Amino acid sequence: MGKGFGGLVLKAMGGSDYTLTVTSTQTITDKYIRIGFTGGGLLADHPIHPTQWVRLWIPQGDDVVQRGYTLCDPDASSDTFHIEFAIHNGPAADWALSAQPGEEITATVMGSKFEMPEATPSEWVLFGDTASLAAINSLLDSIGDVPTRLWIEWQYPSDKNLPLRATAATTVTWVQRVNDGQGLREAAEHLTLSPDAAAWVACDAMTTRTITKSLRAHGLPKTSIKGRAYWK
Ligand SMILES: Cc1cc2nc3c(=O)[nH]c(=O)nc-3n(C[C@H](O)[C@H](O)[C@H](O)COP(=O)(O)OP(=O)(O)OC[C@H]3O[C@@H](n4cnc5c(N)ncnc54)[C@H](O)[C@@H]3O)c2cc1C
Repeated sequence: MGKGFGGLVLKAMGGSDYTLTVTSTQTITDKYIRIGFTGGGLLADHPIHPTQWVRLWIPQGDDVVQRGYTLCDPDASSDTFHIEFAIHNGPAADWALSAQPGEEITATVMGSKFEMPEATPSEWVLFGDTASLAAINSLLDSIGDVPTRLWIEWQYPSDKNLPLRATAATTVTWVQRVNDGQGLREAAEHLTLSPDAAAWVACDAMTTRTITKSLRAHGLPKTSIKGRAYWK
């Protein structure tokens, strides 16, 4: 299956391709699946960093479609990692539901970069949902004991049982999904922030955009905000 024009563009931009092999599948909740992979050399070529993600080429009929997914617990020594799939009606979610050990899938690495700020911020504010839970957990691992406020949106009751790597320094607020992201947008609008806070936002596209605007309106410099739309 060819990757089409999108695949050619990524190749021209220096994207590198890897064949991932499924090693395990685990149902975490009725709407969340964790799949183990070997990376086909991926972790030998690309240093591990928080929120690290790949572009998976998901089979769809005779074609493939590209979707972003986050590496969980990557281990460079064994070239292994997990990917956690929030389940809804879509090709990637469907692929995850039927994946079996031994199955292969292509991943392209292009565009994943994230560095913790050089100066430790006075606090972190994080906004996300179950699609960005894996990235949030990788951030919480790296943030350590810096005070952190996390707003995370739930859609299904079981979402609130998902494993969050909160520490004693993390304040977690679960917000029910209403009008895709409304609760998260309202939380950001009414926030009080210290000027040297750092923010990370990964929700649906419109919510990510609105929250980023609110954070700017609260006086947070652009350089202190990392925002990326995770889905539409
Ligand atoms: C950098 C990056 C990292 C990501 N990491 C992860 C990850 O680790 N785990 C993960 O689950 N997702 C992750 N995502 C989000 C994932 O790529 C999208 O949710 C993607 O659209 C799913 O593809 P699909 O083929 O299943 O559904 P699509 O074909 O894209 O969409 C089908 C339908 O489902 C809806 N939909 C899509 N995603 C969601 C969602 N998350 N919640 C509710 N409805 C949705 C769409 O609106 C549409 O109606 C990441 C995205 C990015 C950009």
